[in-house]
Amino acid sequence: MGVLKDFNTSTVSHSKAVSGVSKFSIVQPGMAYRGTCRTRGCEGHGHSVICNRGHGNHLINDDIVNDIPKCPCCQAVFTVEDVLLFMCNAKVTVHTQTEEVSSLMARGDDIVVLGQRTKNEALFSNQRLVTIDTTGVGRGGGGGGCSIM
Ligand SMILES: [Zn+2]
Repeated sequence: MGVLKDFNTSTVSHSKAVSGVSKFSIVQPGMAYRGTCRTRGCEGHGHSVICNRGHGNHLINDDIVNDIPKCPCCQAVFTVEDVLLFMCNAKVTVHTQTEEVSSLMARGDDIVVLGQRTKNEALFSNQRLVTIDTTGVGRGGGGGGCSIM
């Protein structure tokens, strides 16, 4: 997948938003982190949980260093496994020695998934700063009350 290769988003994959909401996997428009809750007794324990960050300019490395990605049920920090884009236009910039910019779009019930669910350390190393800028697109079939499939 071209320019995103070094972001280890060599996999840009797609998933679908579905209605039928579990409290811990709700996706909202914009960017979100996905990981697995490890808190015993949490409703989301052992499941994929989503931390929604909404629209705006996101510096992924900063969010991770500052323990922003948290389980929405128990507020425990989780290890980011991948990054989701929902109902937005996104500009992804990867800063290494050079700068690589990609534009991605997620419309309707499409969820764009960045990154693989392994090798996270490589994905978010200090040598690789990643920013994601998201802006909204019109509501087009997706929207509130959706979970990732
Ligand atoms: Zn939890």
